[in-house]
Amino acid sequence: MPVYRDEAVVLRTHKLGEADRIVTMLTRAHGKVRAVAKGVRRTGSKFGARLEPFMVADVQLYEGRSLDIITQAESLGSYGALITADYGSYTAASVMVETADKLTESEGSLQQYLLLVGALRSLSRQEHGSHLTLNSYLLRAVSMAGWAPSFQDCARCGALGELSAGGQHSAMVVQLGGIVCDACAPPGSPRLDAATIVLLSALLTGDWEHASASPERTQSQAAGVVAAYTQWHLGRGLRSLEYVAR
Ligand SMILES: [Zn+2]
Repeated sequence: MPVYRDEAVVLRTHKLGEADRIVTMLTRAHGKVRAVAKGVRRTGSKFGARLEPFMVADVQLYEGRSLDIITQAESLGSYGALITADYGSYTAASVMVETADKLTESEGSLQQYLLLVGALRSLSRQEHGSHLTLNSYLLRAVSMAGWAPSFQDCARCGALGELSAGGQHSAMVVQLGGIVCDACAPPGSPRLDAATIVLLSALLTGDWEHASASPERTQSQAAGVVAAYTQWHLGRGLRSLEYVAR
């Protein structure tokens, strides 16, 4: 009976029979895994508590005929309770795991795993606002999947733009990959404030000092851009995004 061990973050779970659950996890080395956790829905199951969404665990599985079976789970990061205790963190984390789930449909990667675990840890510690953590996560996750947005030079023709010197492009076209120059911008393209473009860059690079200092209005304009960009690349709606208060 082939047994393997891995570190995993729980993306979602659903009921199976009377007492079991199917757990969908993004693992460090085995990509996305769906496996059965037996008996976890009995009250007081510690095993089950370690396999709730947003939890990070060291798991042992054995390969089943259709689904693998989880035989052991040791907690590595019990972010779940802290995240679910705060509504803003909870909705942000829900969007993160749903995004990770979709981005790793065909294959997971160590980078996506580490990015998600880092973002959940940050959320559980409330290091930055939940919106900022979420938007930074989304930009990086989508970039890692091969769709890095351009917030400085024209995403279509490459015409150079200046982020801070007043010579920046301002038209945002998600379908073209980000900011585009005036010559490439289709008529009626939405325009972004210079501050919003600077914030988007800060979120992509993880410049928290700058991001945290940005005003509410700028954060909300940036959040709209990140949501549109992510939705466009995922091709389908992110259900959980509707619950994030904007
Ligand atoms: Zn251009």
